[in-house]
Amino acid sequence: MSQLDEVVGEIADEMRRHTDRGDVASYIPELARVDPGAFGLAVVDAEGNVAAAGDADVPFSIQSISKVFTLTLALGKAGDRLWRRVGREPSGSPFNSIVQLEREKGIPRNPFINAGAIAVTDVILSGHQPREALGEILRFMQALADDPAIAIDRAVAASEQRTGFRNAALANYMKSFGVLENPVEFTLGVYFHHCAIAMSCRQLATAGRFLAHLGRNPTTGMSIVSPERARRINAIMLTCGHYDGSGEFAYRVGLPGKSGVGGGILAIAPGKASIAVWSPGLDAAGNSHLGRIALEALTKRMGWSVFGT
Ligand code: GLU
Repeated sequence: MSQLDEVVGEIADEMRRHTDRGDVASYIPELARVDPGAFGLAVVDAEGNVAAAGDADVPFSIQSISKVFTLTLALGKAGDRLWRRVGREPSGSPFNSIVQLEREKGIPRNPFINAGAIAVTDVILSGHQPREALGEILRFMQALADDPAIAIDRAVAASEQRTGFRNAALANYMKSFGVLENPVEFTLGVYFHHCAIAMSCRQLATAGRFLAHLGRNPTTGMSIVSPERARRINAIMLTCGHYDGSGEFAYRVGLPGKSGVGGGILAIAPGKASIAVWSPGLDAAGNSHLGRIALEALTKRMGWSVFGT
């Protein structure tokens, strides 16, 4: 058994014993029903070995983690022109905040808050029907994870659509500034559906490998993005990946990471590993409570923080 296998097993055991697990998202019934006791961890190292423990093969709603992959696709499509429609500064605000948008004339702070991710989705949608844009996003995830079975949870998407008044407000507000090109309902439809993709920790960690290895899948050698682009996506994950908990995540874990309200976190140890953790209970900033604690333990024991041990 490798050191990594041992550490991953230990951490899963420790997390099982935690009583303070945070609160499961309750804004839609599909997420509120998820077992708060679930915990999964998967780490894929540079050689492609997977260390996995707990519920690492149980699919969960990736929610905002999808924003890393839509950002990657939109940069591929628009290149640096994307930055005319969205900024790249931490927001210091909750994920669905509207106040900043007014002060900043409809340009969202970064691609990982909801407004920014909706603007990014609009870029992917332009020139396509919503169904085609969504198919492109889903196929991208399937190819990266090397698993054609990855699917959208339609019940989650329908619930998001039914209750997404705040996201609709953000989208309409941006539309009024000309930041969105497509009909608001089309852009929102694609956004809600890509947030509703269901994946396991193993699939997600596999999909994130290109970010840990200069834009390439080190096993197949396939280049997904340039090394420079991978570095920049990691920079945005580090500074903006956890909403107004991004500073705390950098302080405690020290890796680029992106959280989702479903309780997942994708974290990247550059040159070393791609990591996915899932524990549905959230902290006050809407990030996985135990997920963060598990990642802190992992980076400490493996010496993986980008800031040194
Ligand atoms: N679908 C969620 C929303 O737009 C994503 C939020 C998140 O994962 O943080 O409200």
